[in-house]
Amino acid sequence: MAEHRYDPHEIESRWQAVWADERTWEVSNEASADAREGRGSRAPSGGARAGVRSSNSYVLEMLPYPSGEPHIGHLKCYSVGDAIAHFHRRLGARVLHPMGYDAFGLPAENHAIKTGVHPRDSTAESIASFQRQFRSWGISIDWSRELATCEPSYYRWTQWIFLELFRAGLAYRKEAAVKWCPKDQTVLANEQVDADGHCERCGALVEVKQLEQWFFRITDYAERLLNDLDGIEWPEHVKTMQRNWIGRSEGAEVTFRCEAIGVDYPVFTTRPDTLFGATFFVMAPEHPDVMRLAGGTQYEQAVHDYVNHALNETNEERGNADKPKTGVPLGRTVTNPVNGEQIPMYVADYVLMEYGTGAIMAVPGHDERDHAFATAFELPIRRVIFPPNAERAVEAAPGEDGLPYTGDGTLVNSHPDFDGLPNREALGAIVAWLDREGKGHASVNYRLRDWLVSRQRYWGTPIPILYCEGCGMVPVPDEQLPVELPDIEDYTPRGRSPLAAAEEWVNTTCPECGGAARRETDTMDTFVDSSWYFLRYCDARNDSAAWDPAALREWMPVDQYIGGVEHAILHLMYARFFTKALADLGHLDFHEPFQALFTQGMVTKDGSKMSKSKGNVVSPASIVERVGSDTARAYILFVGPPDQDADWADEGVDGVHRFLSRLWRLSAETAERAGVSGAASSPGGEPTGPVSPEGDDLALMRKAHWAIDKVSGDLRRFAFNTAIAAVMELLNDCSRLRESVALETMRFSLATAASLLFPFAPHVCADIYDLLTGERVWEQPWPQAEEALLERDSYELVCQVNGKVRDRVQASSDASPEALKELCRAAPNVVAHVEGKQIVKEIVVPGKLVNFVVR
Ligand SMILES: [Zn+2]
Ligand SMILES: [Zn+2]
Repeated sequence: MAEHRYDPHEIESRWQAVWADERTWEVSNEASADAREGRGSRAPSGGARAGVRSSNSYVLEMLPYPSGEPHIGHLKCYSVGDAIAHFHRRLGARVLHPMGYDAFGLPAENHAIKTGVHPRDSTAESIASFQRQFRSWGISIDWSRELATCEPSYYRWTQWIFLELFRAGLAYRKEAAVKWCPKDQTVLANEQVDADGHCERCGALVEVKQLEQWFFRITDYAERLLNDLDGIEWPEHVKTMQRNWIGRSEGAEVTFRCEAIGVDYPVFTTRPDTLFGATFFVMAPEHPDVMRLAGGTQYEQAVHDYVNHALNETNEERGNADKPKTGVPLGRTVTNPVNGEQIPMYVADYVLMEYGTGAIMAVPGHDERDHAFATAFELPIRRVIFPPNAERAVEAAPGEDGLPYTGDGTLVNSHPDFDGLPNREALGAIVAWLDREGKGHASVNYRLRDWLVSRQRYWGTPIPILYCEGCGMVPVPDEQLPVELPDIEDYTPRGRSPLAAAEEWVNTTCPECGGAARRETDTMDTFVDSSWYFLRYCDARNDSAAWDPAALREWMPVDQYIGGVEHAILHLMYARFFTKALADLGHLDFHEPFQALFTQGMVTKDGSKMSKSKGNVVSPASIVERVGSDTARAYILFVGPPDQDADWADEGVDGVHRFLSRLWRLSAETAERAGVSGAASSPGGEPTGPVSPEGDDLALMRKAHWAIDKVSGDLRRFAFNTAIAAVMELLNDCSRLRESVALETMRFSLATAASLLFPFAPHVCADIYDLLTGERVWEQPWPQAEEALLERDSYELVCQVNGKVRDRVQASSDASPEALKELCRAAPNVVAHVEGKQIVKEIVVPGKLVNFVVR
């Protein structure tokens, strides 16, 4: 018998060539077109479709950001997605599994600033490297739909969507205090500033700046973004993160008036029941009226200094309940609308502009931070709620009376109409009263802010807006799209977009009056590009529209979305917002983009995140070079549950490599013995195993069917690690029983192992299946376990009396002989035959029967 040696590189490049030549993973948009034109993957003949909603399935991993080379996280993400794509295909679905690149963004631009290399060139180079590696990993991608968000053929439609939102009033411009990264010289979204106030990209301390900016009105969708989470199959922790980010709270908006300057200040409070306890009023340092209020008072300079100082502090520091409270009086008062009291106004950094209206009524008796502030500034503290069952004692001195008290209780010191009521009841009554008086109303507040999309950077989608002296703000007409990015010499931002220097591009003609106009020079946040790419894949080559609605009907929503949990808030929230807004505008007929979501864990090395500075980076390219991509892919899914973080270990890689090697060698030997050798010779056909196996043959057949059952279930719940382990167990039994079972049993078992392992290690499994059967494994339906060959957890125990079958009962597979005797004794028809007699002998055959000999 010939020597068989597993050569992953030869096997992998051979099968990759087949898939590339035949464009195996391409799917057309009309189900019938495949049949008509005779291309695309052959639909499996039968096959269960459980786990797939319809005969079409859209499996999508988050598109990569092309910078440098793919890293190990990419290998994991696309290995997970590819396993699902293959599984859905073999369950009978036509699977859309496309690829693209989130190609605009800062790294390419910063590289350009340093080296002068055009971001387009460095991005293209990186994309080429991603393409090469994805092909070398054997990911089953439909390359016919490939896109990059930096191509004019793509961003033309990003601009069209911007204009659709603009025309609907969902894109607007306003001056706003924005977070500004002094190093990147750009505005940052709130989400791009970390908890310590540093730029998420470069780590620089973020500053505050007032600028005219473009926003998307995502807050209009807060309620729907919250409620619709209930209808999608996403991990609960991701839903929780989204809910917290939206941050819905119920309460009331109450108006406090500053008579001195004649301005009403609404505040949002979740505790209108404590209104009578408000003894002062606090504004955030970013509040636009702070300087105006302090102007002309003795505090003007102190307020000015305080505001500038406070803006350099982080929100986390400012919000910290333990931090000593600081602030400055504004020299003004506001009227408490419920009792007409004049209460003093302060500016203090513990109030954040991002929450509510940027101003609060302070209730030191019932709020911890207000209490700390009142104590520091010697302000009155008034109790308006008594704990339940507490005696109505005379109000004690602050601090000695259990204040601040934040719980529920009975209203006191408020108003005769409300005193004595449980505070929750009083809350409703007070809000109703405010409403009648025109001083407030019930209100819902969201933490979610509108999405700031302007960037003062070059490498992004130009905002398709013109400014005309006569007509004002004018949208670029649809037929003039795309507004293409001009080439420029200097990418360095200097407080304005580098595009502002491209004078020829900036100066243009107004489409409305024909006069001179200037182009908007800001570009869009790259999260805009990635908020709709999944729609474009459905109709990626359409030059006359962003998509044909019929194409979306065929594929959307995405059946299974896969990506990192770091996108739980931003990308996923924005994509949901786009989908809802575009649906409202009549462009989509669904409201959620991603029906199911899977978030994969990180791959670490030596217990910590891989990074160049730690020198613990495992590059996918070097692993594939050493052991082949099947090993790399199977290992990364075998190392642990894929939603968890996993630590890379080279010994584990070698273990998986030995497993694949053994599987391939034993299969090659078996194929040779069976006289089957690939598609060219007379194939053995699809193996079914022996007709009525016994002994070791039966044992191995049972093992194979057990593996089918186990892997099918594991794949449905993303337990890829235990699925791969099950195939390892099957291979162990194949090796152990190789001398004692029939050739057909061995051929069936090994072909089954290859069929089950194919989603994780496609090349070697395609090769094995071809060797053993002459068939293409990816065209086969997913194997079905035969009930009769499954060893279930329970079995039918035969109950005999004097050797005659009297009853049958279900017994657990692991029941002890004693327990089996008990079961048998209790069986009704056994009871009838034993009654009044004496059991003289008990014979137990576990897994089969119990026989009582009676006299
Ligand atoms: Zn930065
Ligand atoms: Zn004009």
